[in-house]
Amino acid sequence: MPQTVTLSLTPKQAADAKFYTLQAARTLGISDRDVALVRVVKRSVDARRGRPKVNLSLEVYVDREPQPAPVHFDYPSVAGRTPVVVVGAGPAGLFAALRLIELGLRPIVVERGKEVLPRKRDVAAINRNGAVDPDSNYAFGEGGAGTFSDGKLFTRSRKRGDYNKALQTLVFHGASPEILYEAHPHIGSDRLPRIITAICRTICDAGGDVLFGHRITGLHVEHGRVRGVCCGTTVIEGAAVVLATGHSADDIYMMLHDAGIALEPKPFALGVRIEHPQALINAIQYRNSSEMEYLPAASYSLVSQEGGRGVYSFCMCPGGFMVPAMTDSAQSVVNGMSPSERNSPFANSGLVTEIRVADFEYLRPRYGDLAGLAFRREIEMAARRNGGEHQIAPAQRATDFVAGRGSSSLPAVSYIPGVVPSRLDRWMPDFVSTALRQGIATFGRRMHGFLTDEAVVVGVESRTSTPVRIPRDAATLMHPSVEGLFPTGEGAGYAGGIISAALDGERVAEAVNSYVK
Ligand SMILES: Cc1cc2nc3c(=O)[nH]c(=O)nc-3n(C[C@H](O)[C@H](O)[C@H](O)COP(=O)(O)OP(=O)(O)OC[C@H]3O[C@@H](n4cnc5c(N)ncnc54)[C@H](O)[C@@H]3O)c2cc1C
Repeated sequence: MPQTVTLSLTPKQAADAKFYTLQAARTLGISDRDVALVRVVKRSVDARRGRPKVNLSLEVYVDREPQPAPVHFDYPSVAGRTPVVVVGAGPAGLFAALRLIELGLRPIVVERGKEVLPRKRDVAAINRNGAVDPDSNYAFGEGGAGTFSDGKLFTRSRKRGDYNKALQTLVFHGASPEILYEAHPHIGSDRLPRIITAICRTICDAGGDVLFGHRITGLHVEHGRVRGVCCGTTVIEGAAVVLATGHSADDIYMMLHDAGIALEPKPFALGVRIEHPQALINAIQYRNSSEMEYLPAASYSLVSQEGGRGVYSFCMCPGGFMVPAMTDSAQSVVNGMSPSERNSPFANSGLVTEIRVADFEYLRPRYGDLAGLAFRREIEMAARRNGGEHQIAPAQRATDFVAGRGSSSLPAVSYIPGVVPSRLDRWMPDFVSTALRQGIATFGRRMHGFLTDEAVVVGVESRTSTPVRIPRDAATLMHPSVEGLFPTGEGAGYAGGIISAALDGERVAEAVNSYVK
């Protein structure tokens, strides 16, 4: 059995494996020569007060003790087994497919977008000339919105075992084992595509299918049960359908709505991306530590109540880039990502406020349960009209936004299509810009230096979660009025983020297994 040691070290000491091995051996009262292996099982930076410290939790193995085995999964062959259609190759769909394989069912993953490599070219085209392919972009394609995401692997899930298994699955498919012990695990947008490709290979090697370039346009129903999907005139059959199409698939919500399938409006969040120089965030958060070079790019997490409305930072990307995440060229949508090294000179974060169902009630007479979708689309299109050609995004200095005046110039930003000065409050709903303005002022008071001329707010961060829920029965996880249809993931309203979508996909696969067998 390994022994566990917890050390609180300076950043420089924590970066030195020889140093902490010696310290761990001393703490255990043994010689470092008897130590066969030291494994970091948790690492976190504590910069709350005084000089930043790094807390390390170590497992110490002494001579001749069995050492931890590398992560391994066996996926059985499911060739010839009962097929199940999984729509969407995002984290929810892919983890549903892996779990179906473990349960002896054959997943057929149907994805509207392209494989990672051609998708990379489409994403590059958005950055280069603003051309958005509605089936292949930052949201759609192999790996869904997860592929070019930041890859922070955070979840509020209390089921630690499931969470660990999800992380191990990612490690088995090529992620660094460091994600198993980091307090805030992060993969990085440069490494995710390879992992996603490996997961799709596992599915196909086990006898499943991943069909790219297949946009589903309808459900195939036989004797009152969903028995597959339609892609135009092509029918793909399965014993059940897992619907994991993400929060950007407006056409799916419309298809369900038009077919009279019950949907529910749902609160969501919307706002801007805010970007600062990373050096400024480091200086604020690490209080100009002399050991900055041993510390990771600093992040922040901010939340406040402004006039009874929540305002909070979301998906903070230290050392990252803002990216154009729209699925249609008539929209301006921004998001953020960072490479594994988190080494860009910029720090960006979503800064959003809650949008309640009552806020888009005025659109219900016209759009029914899709009112939230119409509300989101209106703002995304307003942002587009107030930006420039080729997806240049509308932006304002944070200080000008808070003061309610225009910006005559903008500092350099990481957003490749570029930014153009715009008064955001002139085209955002009043309640949104007021809450954000007050929130940024509050954060500036709490985090001295946050509200600065060097910070830019960019419109709009609107794809935080879905404004529409696809209902499902709490016990069977099936749509209450459509037998054989299993909504899952972020688009159905049951997840927010890579890991929670993956875990929800697994749960739904288990429900499908109970339904089919
Ligand atoms: C730039 C960026 C950065 C992000 N960073 C993080 C992060 O650091 N951490 C985190 O946890 N989350 C992050 N996210 C969010 C995360 O990616 C999503 O929460 C997650 O991908 C949701 O998974 P999902 O499987 O439910 O849906 P998606 O990933 O949205 O997958 C849905 C899939 O369904 C497909 N589809 C849609 N319609 C159809 C159709 N009609 N026919 C066939 N296929 C269809 C789409 O093409 C897509 O591939 C980020 C997102 C973006 C865009």
